[in-house]
Parts: sequence; structure tokens; C-alpha cells
Amino acid sequence: MQGTLKNPVRFSGVGLHSGAQTTLTVYPSPADSGIVFHRMDVARAHRAVPARWDSVISSPLCTRIVNDFEVSISTVEHLMAALVGCGIHNARIDVTAGEVPIMDGSASVFVRAFLNAGIVAQRAPVKALRVLKPVEVRRGDAVARIMPHKTLLIEFDIEFEDQAIGAQSKKLNMSNGSFVRELCSSRTFCRQADVDHMQANGLALGGSPGENAVVFDGDKIVSPGGLRHADEPVRHKMLDALGDLGLAGVPILGHYQGIRAGHALTNDLLRALFADREAFEIVECDPKMLSLLPGAGVHLGELPEVA
Ligand SMILES: [Zn+2]
Repeated sequence: MQGTLKNPVRFSGVGLHSGAQTTLTVYPSPADSGIVFHRMDVARAHRAVPARWDSVISSPLCTRIVNDFEVSISTVEHLMAALVGCGIHNARIDVTAGEVPIMDGSASVFVRAFLNAGIVAQRAPVKALRVLKPVEVRRGDAVARIMPHKTLLIEFDIEFEDQAIGAQSKKLNMSNGSFVRELCSSRTFCRQADVDHMQANGLALGGSPGENAVVFDGDKIVSPGGLRHADEPVRHKMLDALGDLGLAGVPILGHYQGIRAGHALTNDLLRALFADREAFEIVECDPKMLSLLPGAGVHLGELPEVA
């Protein structure tokens, strides 16, 4: 069965890149309607922006989606991860500006609110995308690939010259609520040099280190309070990947592997996957398959304390 929220949920905060103060409200919506954003600050006929892989446009630091009227929404990835990770297939999301609020830099604020509001099953089967053969894309030394697997498995490798990040690798099966337990509280991160560069260019206006991003500088963690996990950066990259893969519009059954990958490369991967009709099939989930999807059986008790 597909899922949607039992009650609407509202969030307020600033966008990390735009600094815009935004109110975002997630409403229940009918089966088979998918995830659709609505920009409430533009003309009614131009508001709808579907959360889909083919709506993504190039943006260096986040995932940005746009409609036919050039109306866009930035930084959708953490909210998308929370929706996928909670088994919410259908939602209408009203936003009052062009960027999703960054909250604490993770997805845990969204997850907590969704689980508190409750998720209801809808009378419609879940269709999933089953990967049939490997698909791979590259940009420089970054790689993203997807391979056949019976559940969604996310594997990620990062390597940074800052010693406080260094090389990190992790692989997690997204079944059994592992997103809520293992990934959703991991915050976005950046390097002090990037913060300096962005601020010099008038970006990161909403970025207040320590409140909504972990800032690293060489062997130091600049943000007060330290890390939520010793390997928080790679966990956050996995969170991003889950959100970006959520733009497929249906749950994916496959093994995703990202090596130094980012939002743009994961979107390249979805485009390459959908371009190859022999690389996937759309299947209707039976009860066993449903029980292995990322949102199956999640509950508040599994949210990490720190969140
Ligand atoms: Zn992120």
C-alpha cells in the first residue's frame, strides 16, 4: 500500500543558500499523485513543481527542481530523504519561497514531525523500479553506479584532504528502518575554506555554522558540540543519495554506489538509468517486497536521541 501523512505538518526556517525565511507545509495527498511542491509566492497556474528526476536542473551545492515556467525549489534532498525514509509516497508541499528550510542540516526534524503526525496506508499498490543490469556514470574521479539487488542498498565512499574528515566508507541496507536509525540525524557539512569562499560571494546567508552544518577545517571540527557520529559526513552523503534517488518517483530496488559522488552525479545516474529501457523494470510490490522498502515499520522509538 502507498502511504501519505495522516495530518498536515508545518516547518519554518531559513534556506541554507538563499537565506530566505520559508514556511513549508506538507499535506496528505491522493494515491498515485506523488510528491509535488507548490510555490505559494507565484501565480497559481505556475505553482506546481513535481519532485522528479527530469525536473532537476544544475546547481552546484544542492538539488534544485524547476517547472516549465522556470519556477524552482532548491535544497529538496533532505526533505525527500525524510519522505522516502518514512514511506510517504504522496504529499503536496506548499513553500512560501524558493528553498526548503535547512533546519538543523539533517533530516531528523522532518522525520520526527512525520512520525508524530502519523502515516496512513492508501488503497493503491506500490510500484517499484527493479534494476536489471548495472548502470554507471562518471564526472572526473567521481563515480555513481546502480546494480541489481533485491532491496535498496546504499554504499558510499568519500575522501577529503581535511584530516578531520579523511576517507570514510559505509554500506547500509535501507530496509528495516535503517534510514531513521542510522542516517536521518547526520548533518550536512562543509569546509571552512568553502564557507569563506561562499560568504565572499554572498552565498550561505542562512548558514550559521554549528546550527545547520558541520564545519571542518583541517584536523579540527569548527562547529561547537562536535559530531553526532564519528563518520557523520559519509552518513550525510548517504542521506543525500536516498533523497536524490527519491526523485525516481518510485522506490528503487538496487544497489547504489557513490564514490566521491554528489547531487549532480546521482541525477546523471537516474537519467542514464531511465534512458536504458533494458536496465530496469517497474514491478508491483507484493507484501514481502513492501516489508523491505525503506519506510516499512519505522517508528519514533528508533530516532536517535541527539535529534
Ligand atoms: Zn545534504
